[in-house]
Amino acid sequence: MKKLKIAIDGPCASGKSTIARMLAARLGYTYINTGAMYRAVGLFIIRKDIDPFDENSVKSQLAGIEIDLIGPASNQRVVLNGEDITSEIAKPNVASAASSASTLLSVRKDLVARQQRMAREGGVVLEGRDIGTVVLKDAECKFFLTASISERAARRLKDYEAMGIKMSLAETEQELKLRDERDMNRKHSPLKRAEDAIDIDTTDLSIEQVIDRLMDLISAKQEANRG
Ligand code: C5P
Repeated sequence: MKKLKIAIDGPCASGKSTIARMLAARLGYTYINTGAMYRAVGLFIIRKDIDPFDENSVKSQLAGIEIDLIGPASNQRVVLNGEDITSEIAKPNVASAASSASTLLSVRKDLVARQQRMAREGGVVLEGRDIGTVVLKDAECKFFLTASISERAARRLKDYEAMGIKMSLAETEQELKLRDERDMNRKHSPLKRAEDAIDIDTTDLSIEQVIDRLMDLISAKQEANRG
């Protein structure tokens, strides 16, 4: 059966990572979390004490930023220049630096090229903000995941609590709103739904229900390809 390219986009905490990871595991595909790559850049520039909006300074560092996504979809590790940074990049300050640096054209060009190389062979599930519109315009299946802001904030707050990060629901909601706003309004590759993407509102759906729906849509696509 043809190995498809699957694109999943959507705003912060809309369930993209969980769904993409489980979908990749179910299909035996490679899972590529592009947000983790922007977060790795964010962490790198925090550590170097570089202003994330300073295009020249950030650009000059890109060649020295090696990012590897290692291991199976169910337990993928994010490795920056040989160091496992998976837990570190889940923090809100890293998310914020990633969101700032991701507005820079040099960062986008560099990471998009890496992501396209990783996806070249197909059999991949990529999740992010610009997968269906830029990175994999030719993806056979494109999904745009959404959920209400209160549901997304509640989900992210749970993640933070599990990590021992103290944030209120209101602060978490504010963090997500700020990042969505920046992601949707930036000049280069803003977050938007690809015209040929299928909308999935996950607010009232369980993870299994979302996976089942996507699997049905992917199977239909594979059938259509075969016929
Ligand atoms: O998906 P996640 O929340 O981990 O992404 C962190 C940030 O990286 C996003 O807020 C966004 O600014 C940026 N990003 C992006 N393009 C992608 C993936 C993430 O600009 N494809």
